[in-house]
Amino acid sequence: MNCLEAQSNIISYIENGLEKEKRIDFLRHIQSCNDCKEELDIYYTMIEGMRQMDTNAPISKDFKKELDHRINKELKQNKTRKEVVVLSVVVAILSFVSFTVIGYINFLGIVKADEQRKIKEAQGKYYFSDTFDEYLFEPDNQVISIGIEPEPEEEETFYSKVRAYNSLK
Ligand SMILES: [Zn+2]
Repeated sequence: MNCLEAQSNIISYIENGLEKEKRIDFLRHIQSCNDCKEELDIYYTMIEGMRQMDTNAPISKDFKKELDHRINKELKQNKTRKEVVVLSVVVAILSFVSFTVIGYINFLGIVKADEQRKIKEAQGKYYFSDTFDEYLFEPDNQVISIGIEPEPEEEETFYSKVRAYNSLK
């Protein structure tokens, strides 16, 4: 907003006739431009003074101070609203990022688990021995539980024939 625009908005501003965005533009110019601020002070004193006389309200002692207070209040409100918007955006971005990161970590976990499963499956039934031992190894266990296998029968030799012959005597 330039000086010409600002000065054409002075009366509207004093009478609360400016829309929010235009009012903020106007106030930013006022803050940075002494000429327009001075102009605003004069108009404000005139218009407010007349309004107060018309309504028999107590006349302000310091119009300039009142105006400065009003300007600061309006700018502060705008700043607060802006901060809330910025904060919401930041929160939204952070949520999105953390969801993405958590999702990615979960995805990595799934991929890793799948790879581990494939590796273990490739190792054959021994991988599953922890879980399926009793089913997969039942035959072996049975052999063990039976115990020592019977010794193979002695082969008939010359000496065994001699012993058999002697035992008959
Ligand atoms: Zn100006």
